[in-house]
Formats: sequence, structure tokens, C-alpha cells
Amino acid sequence: MATRNILVLNCGSSSLKFALLSQAHSTPLLAGQAERLAGPQATLHWWQAANIRQRRELPGADHRAALQALLPLVEAACGGGLHGIGHRVVHGGEQFTQSCLIDARTLAAIRETVPLAPLHNPANLLGIETALALFPDLPQVAVFDTAFHQSMPEHAYRYAIPERFYREHGVRRYGFHGTSHRYVGRRAAEITGLSPGDSCWLSAHLGNGCSTCAIVDGQSRDTSMGLTPLEGLVMGTRSGDVDPNLHSHLARTLGWSLTEIDHLLNSESGLLGLSGLSNDMRNLEQERARGHRQATLAIEVFCYRLAKSLAALFCALPRLDGAIFTGGIGENSPLVRARTVAHMGLLGLVVDETANARCVGGVSGAINAPGHPRLLVIPTNEEQQIALDTLALLDSSAS
Ligand code: ADP
Repeated sequence: MATRNILVLNCGSSSLKFALLSQAHSTPLLAGQAERLAGPQATLHWWQAANIRQRRELPGADHRAALQALLPLVEAACGGGLHGIGHRVVHGGEQFTQSCLIDARTLAAIRETVPLAPLHNPANLLGIETALALFPDLPQVAVFDTAFHQSMPEHAYRYAIPERFYREHGVRRYGFHGTSHRYVGRRAAEITGLSPGDSCWLSAHLGNGCSTCAIVDGQSRDTSMGLTPLEGLVMGTRSGDVDPNLHSHLARTLGWSLTEIDHLLNSESGLLGLSGLSNDMRNLEQERARGHRQATLAIEVFCYRLAKSLAALFCALPRLDGAIFTGGIGENSPLVRARTVAHMGLLGLVVDETANARCVGGVSGAINAPGHPRLLVIPTNEEQQIALDTLALLDSSAS
């Protein structure tokens, strides 16, 4: 079969990230993003295989105009041979347990899930509808952040609140970052020579958003995010777990509205809130090295909470074949990896300092001390997983 090219789109409310992947190349033919869409400073940034970055101002461009501006670049990069489009969709509710071809039913089901992801799913839908209008004859696929976690058992996904909130309002734990956890879980099996269908992993996706996942035989058994991506770990600007009574406490004592509390916990907390400086781990590491007390504390809280989450997920595993670090922080911060694993000595996890220092900037490998359980650094590649899902669905629909 001829080499096929897949365009991967990730549409946010004012941004459109894209990557053009080819079966013949390990790196994207074209990648970039349009940002500040629908405003006067809308801009398209892109880079090609040679990694030369380019940009074009698109004042006032909306998602459709951005995609239209992207078309000639895509055509040029893949010689006109585009075979499908894969869309990242944040929330698939309980309806989507795997990726699927987009048709009228899929669109209606994604629309039904909007109440569960009121910020993300409308933007994802906008991207899909725009792409369908511009490429009506091209097969398009939706890949859901939540789908991988639909294999969680009920005791892991239910909250201890009355059942009617689950039955009537879908209030349960869904989990996110599923595409990344699935990708690195499969890569871990490949790298270690184990079977994806017979191996057990803990994975920590640590980017601006952070989550952990217990993967058993290629399936998610539990994860740290919940109904929304706020639950669980300390993140860039998200608090992660707090006492649920914090909401009523702030409302009562400060007179705050739900909108204000939402903003506090989602946008002003996490590493940013604790440090008072930045949500960016690189900045915090620099300030820690200069002795900044709050930056140091932010990193310590981040690592301790991460270790606690990983330790808790041992409950979901029959055995452990390895723990995986991924995402911008997981792939690049020996400090965070070492400080996290230092809390898990009782579970037998120990880092090898030299190996840990080596695994940065896209270098994958094992960082555990000899004779101790595997600790792996594996760069994630959600775009590639979305392209692989798209190709698989093209094949199955053709057969
Ligand atoms: P997103 O969730 O937006 O995809 P990324 O996966 O790119 O985010 O991760 C962003 C995080 O990775 C930021 O906190 C950034 O500081 C951190 N990061 C990137 N490079 C390094 C590095 N060399 N050392 C420490 N942290 C890093």
C-alpha cells in the first residue's frame, strides 16, 4: 500500500494545533499552530522537517480562515496526498470507549458531551465542523482523551455520592490524557520486549496538565484525573486535589462566587500558586537553585503529591513492570524524577543518578538503579497515536 499522510488537528477556543504525519517519516512533515484566533493578532506558526520556523500574521482570522491558510502548506508538504484527518477531542463521556470515524452520529454524541467539557468540546467540535466543510470527501476520525480510561472498573470511577448524580448527570471519574498514557504504555512494552497485552505500568504524564495512570495489559485501570482535569496532581496552574469543602469555606468566609473559586483553582493555583512566580517548571528549577523558598516548596509539593498518587495506584496493579515518566516535565526534569522517586523507597523504587541525568531532551531510557523496579523516561507523542488510530480506522472501514 502507498505511504499515507494524516493531518492531526487539535482545536482550542482560540488556537488550532496541527501536525502532518507520514507513514514514511518518523518526524512530522509539517507542524505548528494558529493562535489568538478571531482577534487582531491571529498568527500562524509552522515548521517543516528542516525545522525552520515560519510565521504569518492572519489578522482577524477565525478557525476556518486559519485552516484555509494552512491548506496550501499541507498540499505542498505532502504533494497533495492527504488520506485522512485525526481530531483530538477532549471528552467522549461514556459513549466513546475508543477512537471512531466521524459521521452524523459521532457529531451528535460529541455534542451531547458538551456539558461535561463546556470549554473544550465546543472548540473541538468547531475544528471538526470546519475540517468537514473544507475536506468533505476525506475520512475524519475523533480520538478522545477520555476513551482509554473507559476500561476503569466501577470501584475506581464512581464517587461516593448518591447514585442518581451518576445515573442522571454523568457525575463520575472519566480521566484525561488517555492518548498519551496509551502511547507511552505501548512504547514501554516495545522498549522492554514485553507484550503490551501482558504487562503492567504506572505512567505519569507531567506537562502543564498532569496525571497518573495504572495500565494493566494495555488497559487503564485507574487514573488521577476525574470528572474534570482538576482532580489529582498538582499541575502548572491547577491545584489538583483540595478538600471539597474549600469551595463552601471560601464562599462563606470571603463571599466568593463559584466562578471566582473555579478560576482560583484552575488558573491561579498549582506550581504558580505555590511559588507565586511561575507555572513553568524550568523557571522554578532555576529559582530553586538560587535558594528561592517558595519555588523550592512548589517543587517539593509537586513531587510528594505525584509520589503519593503513584503509590496509591499500586492498588490497581497485579504487579509492576515499570513506572513511566512523560510530558514536558517527565521527559526533561531529572530533579522532579529524583525527588518523586525518593518518596517511594519503601516500594523499592530507586533512581540511578547518571541514567536519570542522561534522559532529557527527547532521550528515552531506563533510569532505575540496577536490581530495582524499572523506571522509564519515554517521550510522549499524542499526534502519532492519533495518526495511528486514524490509519487503523481507515483500514477497517476499507475492509
Ligand atoms: P503541555 O501540557 O502544554 O503539552 P508540555 O508537555 O510541553 O506541556 O510540558 C510543559 C512543562 O514542561 C512546563 O512546566 C515546562 O517548564 C516543563 N519543561 C520543559 N522543558 C523542561 C526542562 N528542561 N526542565 C524542566 N521542565 C521542563
